[in-house]
Amino acid sequence: MKIIMLGAPGAGKGTQAKKIAEKYSVPHISTGDIFRSNIKNGTELGMKAKAFMDQGLLVPDELTCDLVVDRIGQDDCKNGYILDGFPRTIPQAEALNTALKSMGTSIDYAIDVEVQDSHIVNRMSGRRACTGCGATYHVKYNAPKAENICDACGEALVLRDDDKPETVQKRLTVYHDQTQPLIDYYKKAGVLRTVDGTLDMEDVFSAIIAILGE
Ligand code: ADP
Ligand code: ADP
Ligand code: ZN
Repeated sequence: MKIIMLGAPGAGKGTQAKKIAEKYSVPHISTGDIFRSNIKNGTELGMKAKAFMDQGLLVPDELTCDLVVDRIGQDDCKNGYILDGFPRTIPQAEALNTALKSMGTSIDYAIDVEVQDSHIVNRMSGRRACTGCGATYHVKYNAPKAENICDACGEALVLRDDDKPETVQKRLTVYHDQTQPLIDYYKKAGVLRTVDGTLDMEDVFSAIIAILGE
């Protein structure tokens, strides 16, 4: 099962992708997580990516596409995967398409998690990310057991720099300009499915299971 998660920043792609990955035993591939782990480890890619991420801009396609194509060619991706945060531009979708074609395969579902902009700033300002394992919480909707401590690994939770309201506004503009056109792209490809991302997390997940099957 090869799945793409579409949706605005903060729509709940990562939250749902984790649950899907667990239920269907496929790897969860998040380009945002890959960039953040490169930043943490001080790699050259991390330093390049950070300059764009801090401004709420997309990391250039040439730094992003090869990385993903390489990842989905690995052994654990044989039975499928869930792409969270990629593709984010038409050229990325085309690069993915070309790579999949050469492997003799294609995407099964592109799931668009729909949430209006007016909800997004609220979602993002309450999001807390683990500095250790990358797990995501929300102060109101998915609070950790102990304040600012990760349930999974015990490390500190932080508000990501790019989740501050000024940067979120910029990311939303970038989303509408560069990423939203992918909805039409995957609709034309016949694989688009839409879920209401404003429902409770569990209800969003049920809607996704209804699409993917038990
Ligand atoms: P969110 O899901 O909240 O938008 P992500 O963790 O997916 O956040 O991404 C954080 C940042 O990483 C993005 O704002 C962007 O700068 C960069 N990024 C992640 N994925 C991509 C991608 N496919 N193409 C370009 N930049 C990306
Ligand atoms: P994305 O990967 O699309 O940027 P996340 O999955 O990180 O989004 O979710 C953004 C924030 O909103 C997180 O703090 C998360 O806990 C919270 N969240 C996710 N889904 C829901 C939901 N259905 N209802 C309320 N809050 C949610
Ligand atoms: Zn953690």
